[in-house]
Amino acid sequence: MLSKKSVQDIDVKGKRILLRCDFNVPLDLETKTTITNDKRILESMRTINYLIENDAKVILCSHIGKTKEKLSLKPVANRLEELLGKKVELLEEIIGENVKEKVNKMNNGDVVLLENVRMFEEEEACGDSFSKELASLAEIYVNDAFGTAHRAHASTYGVAKYLPAVCGFLIEKELEALDKSINNPIRPLVAILGGAKVSSKIGVITALLDKVDTVLIGGGMTYTFVKALGGNIGKSICENDKLDIAKKILEKAKEKGIQFILPSDSLVADDFSNDANIMVVPTNKIPEDYEGVDIGPKTIEKYKEIIINAGTVVWNGPVGVFELDNFANGTKEIAEVLANGNAISIIGGGDSAAAVSKFNLEEKMSHVSTGGGASLEFMEGKELPGIKALMDK
Ligand code: AMP
Repeated sequence: MLSKKSVQDIDVKGKRILLRCDFNVPLDLETKTTITNDKRILESMRTINYLIENDAKVILCSHIGKTKEKLSLKPVANRLEELLGKKVELLEEIIGENVKEKVNKMNNGDVVLLENVRMFEEEEACGDSFSKELASLAEIYVNDAFGTAHRAHASTYGVAKYLPAVCGFLIEKELEALDKSINNPIRPLVAILGGAKVSSKIGVITALLDKVDTVLIGGGMTYTFVKALGGNIGKSICENDKLDIAKKILEKAKEKGIQFILPSDSLVADDFSNDANIMVVPTNKIPEDYEGVDIGPKTIEKYKEIIINAGTVVWNGPVGVFELDNFANGTKEIAEVLANGNAISIIGGGDSAAAVSKFNLEEKMSHVSTGGGASLEFMEGKELPGIKALMDK
């Protein structure tokens, strides 16, 4: 249960609200001006609309893109104007007297958007004077940026020192879904863990061993486990410095009596491209000049059966190189069985969310998180700074 105050627990009427959203949406690669997936904006609308309907003055704040890119939030301002049917002025200065003067003149129900907060070095450094300046624009701080809740930055953490701080509806929804699926799940609870590297998932795998009934491994991390068990993995991706940890994880899973399943067969390719020669082989017998790029048909059938009989499934990381069509089948089949089955399906953001979106299955999942890193850290049992900073109920 979320023990933090939400936007519904405070009076927002006539107040200037600094609303931190996660508008870090993907833009077209060429011009960087067209939004290619607006899920994160759509997911922010409930809190924005609530504040407008309750006569608040809404000062929106977000980052977009990588820090060094210094991208503008202009495409987001335009999309927000379309969705809200009202003016959303983009304020290029985000601290200082000019912006203060502007926000002081706002009327109830007005919305402005501050320019990309990561254009300022002090944002990520969580500089105290920057946090204080940013906070001085508003009377209340609302954090609804789940995707950056695992970062202690000025706009996600620092400002909360200077303002009454509460969460928005998206953070509430994310935490409820993730918390229930991990801490109070309908069982059996199955975790599907894939992605490129075992190193980025060691924390979450270890933490999940205490919670889940079954772990299904897929993706590039498979081959570190298989090599640790003495298998031949050809030129598959492998982290040789993680073989000991992989072995320990396998031992721990055994001790705890949970099912920890590695793919018995793999689709392998002689090149990392759609033109490669491909074949299906046992995962521990991959020829020298081939690499594992997807789970094989026997594994797909086995995983499907486990998913169909699960009560809850949490999924983090694709089970193959889903970006290339010839290597996408395993990830697609897993996504489809999850979408069409009865288990509660929780998709942990990042690349698994991108895969589900690629196969147009988002609507059929119980919950698709807007935060890859944040949901991983939450599942690891870590306290997220952006949540910790908020007022307790
Ligand atoms: P992660 O960010 O760790 O969840 O990794 C996601 C990436 O893992 C995706 O871009 C996939 O293409 C990649 N991936 C999945 N399976 C494999 C594999 N067998 N070999 C190499 N990369 C993979």
